[in-house]
Amino acid sequence: MANKKAKGKYHIVMMCCGYVESAMTSWIIYTSADGRDVFKTKIDAVKALAFDMYNKYVDETDPSTTMRCDSCKKESSGQFCSKCGTKLSLDKQTLDREQFADWIMSLHSSCCDSYGDSEYANGTRLTFWPWRAEEIVGAKENEVVLIPENAGFVLADALYDQKPELMDEETRLELEHCLNNDDGLHKTDWQRMKLADE
Ligand SMILES: [Zn+2]
Repeated sequence: MANKKAKGKYHIVMMCCGYVESAMTSWIIYTSADGRDVFKTKIDAVKALAFDMYNKYVDETDPSTTMRCDSCKKESSGQFCSKCGTKLSLDKQTLDREQFADWIMSLHSSCCDSYGDSEYANGTRLTFWPWRAEEIVGAKENEVVLIPENAGFVLADALYDQKPELMDEETRLELEHCLNNDDGLHKTDWQRMKLADE
């Protein structure tokens, strides 16, 4: 498998949101802008897309964020802790997993106008574009990453891997529980994807 992994030239991510009855009937297809970036592993490609999506999300929405209070360690939002009144530091903002996943799912019905800028977001140049689906035609297996379901959560978890500070304590415990569950059935799609890509 190590040999196969080294040959990866992933630059296309096809993804679908929802699970079973809620699964979307369409695919969202992102390709590396101008073929600029190619990734050796599926995991690296998904991480790069997750980082793009995070920057789009911050730019396009006004995400309701909570922060962990330095003083009492409880989650709170706004400028001051609602439990103890301590001033909250904005760099302690976390990302709500469900809200982020819902926003990804909403892209299934977005249009050019509502999507907004596809080159830059949140002060960064984006790696992936949603407007070059023609590249999928004739693409080889080692160029395409498929996320068949729950893409919103896969991207949220791929983002947490790069920016663990965005994860609140409850989510951290939940994902840790999923990973360590012995029967293997409770692992998240991202955790299973990483195990398969090793
Ligand atoms: Zn507090």
